[in-house]
Amino acid sequence: MSDLKTNNQKNNVNKKRKINPIQLFRHVIQIIAYITFPGLFVDTFRSMGLLVSTIIAGNWTMADNGLQTLLIVGLLIITALFGRFFCGFICSFGAMQDFLSFIGRKLRIKRVRVPHKVDKILKHAKYVILAVIAFFVWGGGIALFDSSYSPWQVMESFMSSGNPEFSVFASVGGILMGIIMVGSLFIDRFFCRYFCPLGAIFAITSRLRIFKIKKPTAKCGNCKACSNACPMNVNMKVYEAVNSGECIDCMRCKGTCPSKNISFGIDK
Ligand code: SF4
Ligand code: SF4
Repeated sequence: MSDLKTNNQKNNVNKKRKINPIQLFRHVIQIIAYITFPGLFVDTFRSMGLLVSTIIAGNWTMADNGLQTLLIVGLLIITALFGRFFCGFICSFGAMQDFLSFIGRKLRIKRVRVPHKVDKILKHAKYVILAVIAFFVWGGGIALFDSSYSPWQVMESFMSSGNPEFSVFASVGGILMGIIMVGSLFIDRFFCRYFCPLGAIFAITSRLRIFKIKKPTAKCGNCKACSNACPMNVNMKVYEAVNSGECIDCMRCKGTCPSKNISFGIDK
C-alpha cells in the first residue's frame, strides 16, 4: 500500500515537473535579468566592497556612494523580508548554473547527491571566502588577486562585451569558470552552494526573513519529494517553515510537493 502511494506520489511529481507555472515564470524572469543586467551580481558585490571600504576609511559621501548604498540597503531589506529572491530569480550566474543543470539532465548525467552532513560542512567554504575578502581586501585594502582570477569577472566580460571573445577564458578565472561549469552539470547550484561570497551575505541576511517557505510536516509521511527537488540541498524534513539561509526562493519544492503542502507566507 505504501509502495503504491509512493509510486503515485512519484507520478504526480513527474506530471507537475512538466507543467510547473511557477518555474516557467521564474525562468522567464531569469532570462530577462540575464539579458538586461548580466553583470548585476558583480556590480552588487563590488558595491558592497566599496561601501564597506569607504565607511571604514571614513570617506563615505552621499554624492559618491549614494547609489551603491541604495542598491545594497534595498537588496538587504528585500532579503531580510522575503529571502534570497535575488539568487533564485535575478542573478545571471545562478541562472547559468540552472541552465547547465538542465543540460546535465538532458544529457542524462547522473546527479551527484551530496549527503546532508557533508554538504553542511562544504557550505562553510563560502563564509571563509567572504571573511578573507572582507578582512584583507575591503578592510585591509590589500589586492589579493587581480580581476583575471575572478570567474565572475570572466563571465561578466564575456557576456557584457558586444563582441564576446573566448580568450577571456585563458586565465585563472577562466579555468575556475570552467570548473564551475562542469561542476554545475553534476551538482545543482554548485557555485552558489559552496563558494559564492555574495550568497554568503544573503544567506546570513535571509536568516531574518519574515516570509518563508512553510511546510507543516504532519502531511509528509515518508515523502521526501521537496528535499529531493531542492537545488540548494536544503534538508526540508527538519523544517515546519524553512529557516535555512541556503533557501534561494526558487519554489521548486512548492511545485514538486504531491500533497500541495507547501506555501509561501509569514511564519507566525
Ligand atoms: S549564490 Fe551567488 S552566484 Fe548564486 S545566485 Fe546567489 S549571488 Fe548569484
Ligand atoms: S527550500 Fe524550496 S524554495 Fe528554498 S531553495 Fe529549496 S526548493 Fe527552492
